[in-house]
Amino acid sequence: MVRRRMAQTRATRSNRSHGAAAPWQVYYSVIFAPESDHCFYCEAPIDRFAARSFEVDHKTSPKRGGTHTRENLCVACPACNGTKGLMTEAEWRQCMADMAATPEPPVYVRQVRGAKLTPDDVRAIRKLYATGLTLKQVGAQFNTSHTNVSNIVNRKSWTHID
Ligand SMILES: [Zn+2]
Repeated sequence: MVRRRMAQTRATRSNRSHGAAAPWQVYYSVIFAPESDHCFYCEAPIDRFAARSFEVDHKTSPKRGGTHTRENLCVACPACNGTKGLMTEAEWRQCMADMAATPEPPVYVRQVRGAKLTPDDVRAIRKLYATGLTLKQVGAQFNTSHTNVSNIVNRKSWTHID
């Protein structure tokens, strides 16, 4: 019961911050669309009957004005959705291309809360901030404060990393 109450609280809270969720019919039409047998971003095959093998992603995040419609929703593998965060599809593809083009591609991973940032994270933070996200949005993706992000992008910290 306690667990259920917590889940309800969480649902209420997230509805409040993101607006109403998409109706379940919309989710179903996305998940069982013919093209949803693979990740929208990397085209990896998806098992639609295995709960953790895919996520329904907003191509444009609701936090950046994306809608809960069929057109703005797609099926993505956890790896792609995990790195995409608040980026739009175009920003994410550009970010991935930039990273692939660097001699040592930074590993773009969501940090565990409290974990220290790595030099690769710092490079990814600067690149992500350059795409136009706010300090707070970038910080949220790396579980670090906007002050930290500000210091990194303004080169007040991590000055030895270019
Ligand atoms: Zn993928």
